[in-house]
Amino acid sequence: MEKKVPMRTCIACRQTKPKKQLIRIVKNENGISLDKTGKVNGRGAYICDDIECFKKLKKGKLLNKSFKAEVTDAEYEKIEEAYVGKQ
Ligand SMILES: [Zn+2]
Repeated sequence: MEKKVPMRTCIACRQTKPKKQLIRIVKNENGISLDKTGKVNGRGAYICDDIECFKKLKKGKLLNKSFKAEVTDAEYEKIEEAYVGKQ
């Protein structure tokens, strides 16, 4: 039987990769956070485990588009801390 690997697109470099290789950022009623488990409810966006992609995301404010919402600089910084701390 063929096993289907879930694929997701990095919002920074637009490459499609297996979901497991990407980091999920989630937006819900608690705000925006890094979802290390991949199971947090809310709208999700995916990014590579690559600081270059993160820089692109922050510079282009790509989460605003993904979440169709205003994401503050403070929120980007919070995500960045979690993202860098994880590596
Ligand atoms: Zn990427």
